[in-house]
Order: sequence, then C-alpha cells, then structure tokens
Amino acid sequence: MAQLEEFKLETRAWLEENCPAGARGSGQVHTGSSKIPLSHPDLQLWLDRMAEKGWVTPTWDKAYGGAGLSTIEYVALLEEMKAIGARPPVINRGTTMAGPTILEFGNEEQKRRLLPMIARGEGAWCQGYSEPGAGSDLASLRTSAVADGDRYLINGQKIWTSDGHTSEWMFILVRTGPLEPKHDGISFFILNMDQPGVDARPIDLINGGSHFCETFFENAVADKGDMIGELNKGWTVGKRLLQHERSGMESLVSGGAGKRATGIIDVARQYFGQRDGRLDELFRDEVTDYEMNAHALKLTQKRIVDESTDGQTPAAATSIMKVVSTELQQVHTELLAALRGTQGYGWEGEGFTSDELNSTKQWLYSRAASIYSGSNEIQRNIIAKRVLGLPD
Ligand SMILES: Cc1cc2nc3c(=O)[nH]c(=O)nc-3n(C[C@H](O)[C@H](O)[C@H](O)COP(=O)(O)OP(=O)(O)OC[C@H]3O[C@@H](n4cnc5c(N)ncnc54)[C@H](O)[C@@H]3O)c2cc1C
Repeated sequence: MAQLEEFKLETRAWLEENCPAGARGSGQVHTGSSKIPLSHPDLQLWLDRMAEKGWVTPTWDKAYGGAGLSTIEYVALLEEMKAIGARPPVINRGTTMAGPTILEFGNEEQKRRLLPMIARGEGAWCQGYSEPGAGSDLASLRTSAVADGDRYLINGQKIWTSDGHTSEWMFILVRTGPLEPKHDGISFFILNMDQPGVDARPIDLINGGSHFCETFFENAVADKGDMIGELNKGWTVGKRLLQHERSGMESLVSGGAGKRATGIIDVARQYFGQRDGRLDELFRDEVTDYEMNAHALKLTQKRIVDESTDGQTPAAATSIMKVVSTELQQVHTELLAALRGTQGYGWEGEGFTSDELNSTKQWLYSRAASIYSGSNEIQRNIIAKRVLGLPD
C-alpha cells in the first residue's frame, strides 16, 4: 500500500512537470497518424515524453516499450492523468487491439519489432475485417492472400474500414485456404497501407463526417514474417482481437459510460432551469434509469479490472459489456437531444450553440454503436452460446 502511495506521488509530480499545457483539457488526441495534422506541437511532445517513460502502453513489458506496471498502478496513473486533465498521449487501434493481439499470438521477433513501434505511437492502425459479403458472417470473407516467395499477394476488397485513409497499418483477415472449411482457411496479417496495391476510398456518413472507407487490394504485398499466428489459424487470432476491441480496457479502467451521467444532469438543469426548473415525470424516470444503469455498469467495470490480476482482457463476457455499454451510450445521446427539445436536433445555423450541434452529431453517430465491433444481435448469440452455454 505504501508502495502504491509512493508511486502515486511520483506519478503526480512527473505528470505535473511533463504534461504540456497543449495536451491538457479537451481537444485533439494524437492517433499516431502522420497523415492527420496536429493542432498543437505539444501533442507530439506529450506523446514522446509518455513513450519514453513506457506509459503509452504502461502494462506491457519494458522489453516491448511498456513500463511493466501492474493493473493497480495503471489505474492509479489514469486517475492522476484525469486529475490534471491530461489527455491520453495517443488513442489508436495499435495500442488497444493490434498490440495486445501481437503480445498474445506473435513470435518473439514480431514482438520485438512491432510492439516498440506501437508503444511509441508511430503510425495509426485500421481494421480490415468486413467485406461487402462478409459482415456478421465474417468467416465468409473472400479477400485472398497467395504465397509468392517470401511474401503474400493480397487481392480483394474490405469495407467500413474506419480511418483507412489516415492509417499507416492495417491488421487484416484474409483467405489463405480456399479449399478448407471456411473458419479453417483464414490467416491474420499486418499490412503496410502505404503501398501502390492498397487504395482506401472514404465513404460519407449520415452525421456529415467521413471516417471510414472501402479499401481495395490489387496485388498488395505482405511479408511472410507479418503473419501473426499460424497459417490458416487466423480465425482464432482475429476473434481474440475482437474481444480486446469490445472490452476497451482503457474505458473499463476509467469508468466508461458511467462517467457521462453527470453530463445529462447538467444538461437537464441547464435546459429545464430556463423553463420552470422541473423535469416532467417521464424525463425524471428516464434520467434516473440512465443514472442507475450507468452507475451499475461503472461498478461492474471496476470489478472486472479489480479481478483481472494479470491485465488480461476477459473473454466471451466482453460481449456483455459491449451490449450494455453501447445501448447505454444510445440512451445517453437520445436523452441529451430530447432534454434540449428543438435545440437538440439542429444541424447548422446561428440559432444553435456548438454543444447543441455536436449533440445532434453524437446522437446520429451513436446509432452505429450497436453495429460496429460485431452487431449487438451477434453479441447476444455469443452470450447465449459461450457465456450461458445454450445449444446452437
Ligand atoms: C461506425 C462503424 C465502423 C466500423 N468500422 C469497421 C472497421 O474499421 N473495420 C471493419 O472491418 N468493419 C468495420 N465496421 C463494420 C461492422 O463490423 C459491420 O457493420 C458489422 O459486423 C455488421 O455487418 P454488416 O454491416 O455486414 O451487417 P449484416 O451482417 O448484413 O447484418 C445485418 C443485420 O442482420 C443482423 N444479423 C446478421 N446475422 C445475424 C444472426 N446470425 N443472428 C441475428 N441477427 C443477425 C445484424 O445484427 C444486423 O442487424 C464498422 C461498422 C460501423 C457501423
């Protein structure tokens, strides 16, 4: 305990001295991408300092660019960062998905080559799973990889590739065994996006943004040494990565959806204060329900972290967290819009504040939460089979 207190004091002092002003408070977070301009030079400085300390991926072994922190120390670090408003040094799919998967399935050479790069936040990552004919039924994927000497040539198409056009790296599931049963003919590779055989084309979204792409591969090249796990055993690797994606260990640690409850109460006060200051009964029930469910989720997340002694992501139960947290997220954005009344559904114009316009966009974007990372219907199938043990 005394040791933890000492760690907290040292961490507090280090953060206070090293977290630059431009990396505190709300604002842009580094993604590692060299293709997205940074709004402030402090963001790079902050990333470099945290990487030097091993605190971009704090629980990873020092040999792979981490700091070897225990889960409890990691939680303490996040709490100290939160206390001074420090932004995460980087948020990308390298630290949260590719890295943990390589740690688990990569060979030693791959770990030493790839993990330090991820831990330094060098390069952003995208996910090449879904295809036009393979979404929920992901194992039907057809993008192929064929051996060609020391490399594989990849041909086909992926879709809904978030951040495909701004990423340097992709982790991709490809068909390497066309004659095998469908789950047994898939391999997992990492792939450099900056090559002539890869073309990522952005798709426009309902909320006015455009963060995802359809991605085409024409003789794209992946080195043999970039296959993670064994040939035709990629389904197991790819599934495990999805568990890392769904668990969002970072948000488990920081409280995830539970944090947002205060936002609703503030908005309720702000908008109803302008009228007669009383929420009508229906809203009162909905806000209270949300508050209670968000708090229960936060406590469950905390319990998961407390019970995870080795920093490992939980397995099939991550599907429960995915369903509950995304459905809460949708309730949250719906309530925020509804509490604002007509001010909650603005698209543009001077009659709306930037918070109000943002709220409309978040409400629309939240519809995607029950679809991405495997739809919630699919998560319920996984819960039925793998958690409850129900027959197929
Ligand atoms: C915002 C966003 C970002 C995304 N980012 C990425 C990304 O970066 N990389 C990537 O590879 N993919 C990404 N996706 C794709 C996502 O993984 C797929 O959309 C998702 O897996 C569903 O596949 P689908 O869209 O083909 O729908 P379908 O599989 O066609 O499903 C259509 C509907 O049928 C339901 N359904 C299908 N099968 C069953 C079943 N067996 N039982 C019950 N219901 C079923 C589904 O739940 C859904 O409601 C993203 C999606 C979104 C919305």
